[in-house]
Amino acid sequence: MTEKLFINNSYITEFTADIINVIEDDSKFMIELDKTCFYPESGGQPSDIGFIDNCSIFDVQYKDEKIYHYSKEKPESTLDVQCRINWDSRFDLMQQHSGQHILSSSFEKLFDANTIGFHLSEESVTIDLDKKLDAFELEKAEKLSNEIVFKNLPIIIHYPDETMLNQMPLRKPTKVFKDIRIIEVENFDFSPCGGTHVKNTGEIGLIKIKKFENHKDGIRLEFTCGMRALKDYQLKNNLVNKIAVDMSVSSDEVENSYEKLKEDMNLLVQEIKDLRQQLIEYKINGLKENAEIHSNIKLIKYEFTDIDMKSLKTISSTIVNEPDFITLFSLVNDDVKLLFARSKNVDVNMKDIIKEPLELINGRGGGSPFAAQGGGNKINNASLALETAYKHINSLLK
Ligand SMILES: [Zn+2]
Repeated sequence: MTEKLFINNSYITEFTADIINVIEDDSKFMIELDKTCFYPESGGQPSDIGFIDNCSIFDVQYKDEKIYHYSKEKPESTLDVQCRINWDSRFDLMQQHSGQHILSSSFEKLFDANTIGFHLSEESVTIDLDKKLDAFELEKAEKLSNEIVFKNLPIIIHYPDETMLNQMPLRKPTKVFKDIRIIEVENFDFSPCGGTHVKNTGEIGLIKIKKFENHKDGIRLEFTCGMRALKDYQLKNNLVNKIAVDMSVSSDEVENSYEKLKEDMNLLVQEIKDLRQQLIEYKINGLKENAEIHSNIKLIKYEFTDIDMKSLKTISSTIVNEPDFITLFSLVNDDVKLLFARSKNVDVNMKDIIKEPLELINGRGGGSPFAAQGGGNKINNASLALETAYKHINSLLK
């Protein structure tokens, strides 16, 4: 059984140990030591990384009640190997994890909201609460948590017997009574935990909730502590400063300027919509004026190049909504699209009309007797396709 050096002192970074077993598994080596300060992944906290002699340790896991240190290199010697953990990574995890104790306790004290999930990774830290809270309540918990940080309270490890345990105001009840490890944030929080924590709350640094969302019956919130919180602040501060420079305002005015910009943009979008509608109406009138009349049917044939399909459909449907019209439209740019339609009272099957033109443009499509559409890639035949449909209709209208 490996002695866990991290249990009573989470500040040991280097130690000498003996390797008691090495298992080769799928081009990895699982190294077992007689003692270790590498924290194995558990309780929502990722494992430490570091070195055993020159072997890089990328993961540490509990397996069959043993602790295995994973490396891609095989250790050369087994006695008195020099081990060291990556302290930057460990201290960062200790800051986030200790911050979680305080934050969870604040939610419980202020709002009777229990932590039912915790996830800590290199990228983010989240807590799941069993109760829905709003942004104002989250700010209150955040404030209380930071007050606990600023008081620089000691964080104490206890191994209570059952009598002592019963007297402790545990945040969550425990089912284990023997060999239990309780982490106390002095007179603030008592929680059973096997993880690594800082000695004093001041070491956690700022605790900042970043965002939250509904999750099951409660919420999931993402927060950040210590150096991560500083990096987050730097990132956001730089962003606000950049936007302020771009907008030629002070950083205090960014929000108002942004609201104004949104208003202006909405107005412009509406203006573009109105202009587009006017343009469509103008186009429709022009097309109707130039319609050819065959046996009382008004036939419009037109090749578009500078319009979107949605507008084309609007033009076509607006025209054939009136009686006596047939529209034969093509849209030619990167490929060819055909859109043929007719008024309800015209007795021509547009599905039949589009067949041959579609073949000419190497296209596919279909539709109904009232309207048919399709597209193809043979741009050179675009005019011929339209002309073929035109002739076909003329022959039917004679
Ligand atoms: Zn803990």
